[in-house]
Amino acid sequence: MIGKVHIDPVLGEVTLRKSIRSRRISIRVHPGRGILVTVPFYTSYAMGIAFLESRREWARAALERSTARNADLPEGETIESLRAAAKAYLPDRLRSLATKYGFRFNRVTIKHNTSNWGSCSSKGNINLNLNLMRVSRPLQDYILLHELTHLRHPDHGPSFHAELERLLADHFAVNAEESDFQSFLPAVAKSRAQYPVTRTLERALKAYRPV
Ligand SMILES: [Zn+2]
Repeated sequence: MIGKVHIDPVLGEVTLRKSIRSRRISIRVHPGRGILVTVPFYTSYAMGIAFLESRREWARAALERSTARNADLPEGETIESLRAAAKAYLPDRLRSLATKYGFRFNRVTIKHNTSNWGSCSSKGNINLNLNLMRVSRPLQDYILLHELTHLRHPDHGPSFHAELERLLADHFAVNAEESDFQSFLPAVAKSRAQYPVTRTLERALKAYRPV
């Protein structure tokens, strides 16, 4: 990999690198490793630096957050923007899935943490991680249905998995026309796992992690 170090007056040390695979300039903020600017192979480093300077305020804030949180955040997003989007969408979505599949929960709260996507208490309160706004809609629904299923089965035993798989299979059949659901169907059809829909979604979810 070809690389270059640039010192920005505000951001400090910035690593620039060229990548044959990238099609556009991207900025990543890495905890501990600072800022990395990747430019397509035939783009100059100077253009990478100009791009970074045009987004310096975002990069500065992201750098501050990364040292605090030890994780990456996609460009242009902040925890607060994710929280607002999550509050506007997830509780309604949870209510509609609960109604559709006959669940009753007590309260839903949007949380921010890096350890789980959601949780369900014995009192029927559901917590959802604002990071769910960063994953695709089928994966969001998967987590929501997972937490709803805990209202009937508090553990991850066989009856929990059997019910969740039944709900997911139904949910995917109903939404099969939608492209983001369709993208999972070939993997589900090929899967030999005991719970093919759950397994496929669980695998896809591994590409993400809460920040
Ligand atoms: Zn669970």
